[in-house]
Amino acid sequence: MQEDLRSFLAKAERSGKLQRIRREVDPKFELAAVLKKIQTTSGKVALFEKVKGYEMPVVSNVFGSREILALIFDTVPEDVVREFVSRRERQIKPVLVRDSPVKEVIKTGEEASIQALPLVTHCEKDNGPFVTAGIIITRDPQTGIRNVSINRMMYKNENTLGCRMMPPQHLGIIQVKAEEMGKPLEVAVAIGNHPIELLVASTTLPFGYDEFDLAGALRGEPLELVKCETIDLEVPAGSEIVLEGEILPNVREAEGPFGDFMQCYIPVMENHVFKLKAISRRKDAIYQTIQASSLEDMHLLGLSREADVYKAVINTGAKIKAVSLIPTILSCAISIEKQFTGEPKNVAAAAFGCYSWLKYCVVVDHDVNVFDINDVWWAMASRSDINKGLFVMEHARGFPRDPFNIHSGKLAIDATAPLNCWGEFERKRIPGEESINLQDYL
Ligand code: MN
Repeated sequence: MQEDLRSFLAKAERSGKLQRIRREVDPKFELAAVLKKIQTTSGKVALFEKVKGYEMPVVSNVFGSREILALIFDTVPEDVVREFVSRRERQIKPVLVRDSPVKEVIKTGEEASIQALPLVTHCEKDNGPFVTAGIIITRDPQTGIRNVSINRMMYKNENTLGCRMMPPQHLGIIQVKAEEMGKPLEVAVAIGNHPIELLVASTTLPFGYDEFDLAGALRGEPLELVKCETIDLEVPAGSEIVLEGEILPNVREAEGPFGDFMQCYIPVMENHVFKLKAISRRKDAIYQTIQASSLEDMHLLGLSREADVYKAVINTGAKIKAVSLIPTILSCAISIEKQFTGEPKNVAAAAFGCYSWLKYCVVVDHDVNVFDINDVWWAMASRSDINKGLFVMEHARGFPRDPFNIHSGKLAIDATAPLNCWGEFERKRIPGEESINLQDYL
C-alpha cells in the first residue's frame, strides 16, 4: 500500500508533530477555535478524536509549519522549495489498482448521505458547514484529460452541496464545456488525502495537464488510483472518503458567505450545485478539513507558487537563497547573494512576471531569514534606500477577485545593503549562541 494520509499521520506522530485532541469538540465553531489555538502555538497536525454527533475523527493542519512541509518531502525546512522544484521535473503517470480500503463501505442512491460526515463550520458568518479539503477530480468532456483542484463546497442537504467554480479556473472552464454540450459534469470529491495530493490539487498547471502526473513526480512513483462506482472517474486509492456525483448543468443557487483565504467573507453568489450519487469510504475513515486563511492554507497554496518564483529568479542568473510567500501568498520575500546594484529589481520583476497575484516583493540579502517577517522588516528598516530602491508597476494584472480595484498595482522594495561595503552592514553575532541550552544554566 502506497503512502496515504494515515501513514503520514503516523510519521508526523513519530516526529512529535501530531497533536491528539481527546476531549469531544463540537464541529460547529469549537473544533475551529481549538484548531486555531494549535495553529497559532505549536503548529502541529491536529487530530480530533471525538467529534460531537459523529463516529469519525477529524484531522487538520497537515501543512501547519515549514517543518511539517519538510517532513512531507523528507528534507529540511530551508530546502522544501528546492526539493519541490527538482522533483516536479519528471512527471509520472498514475496507475490503476483494483483494491482500495476506500471501498470498505459503499452507499449509493438514497442510502448515500453527506450527513454521515462531520463537516465543520469554521467561522461566525459562514453559511453553515463547508467541505474545505475535498479534492475535486473531473475530466474535460472534449479531450478526456483529467483535472484536479480544491474547491470549497457548502452543505445544503443530505445529497446536495453548493460549489464555486468559475473560469479561468480549470474546473470552471471544463464545467462550461459540459454545460454547452447540455450535460451534467461528473465529479468525484476525495477527502482525507496524503498531503502530496492536496498540494498538486492546489498547483496551477497549464490547462490540459493532469495534476496527478505531478503527484507521481513529487512522490517519485506513480500515484495509485481506483475506479469510482457510479461515475467514469478514478480517485486516489489511499483516500479516506470519496463522494461521487455530478454538477448540474444550467443550475445556479445562492452560495456563501464563506470566510476565505484573505480572512474576509466572500459574499453570497449564484454558484453551482453538486448532486451526490454515492459515498465510498474506509470503515474507520478520517475526515479532513482546512481552515481557510490559516498558516496551513497559506503553505498549501504557497508552496507551488514559491517554486515558480524560485525557478523564475534562478533563470535571471541570480544567486537565490530562499523565497517565502508566507503569511499571505500575495506578498513575497526573496533572499539573494547580490551580484550587482540593480539586481534586486530584476529579481522582483521575474517574481511579478511569473506569479500575477503578487503585490509586494521585498528582496533581501542572504543573511536575512525570509521565513521570519520580523527579520524582513529589520532589513527594510536598516538596509533599504527608498530614494533608489523602489520599483512600482501600476495597473498590472493582480489578484482577480478585486471589486474595488486595489490589487492591480505592484511594489518591489530593494532591502539589500549597498555593494562593496559589507563590513558596515554585517550583522553582529555572539560566538557559541547557537549551541547554548538554557536548561543547563538554570
Ligand atoms: Mn488544472
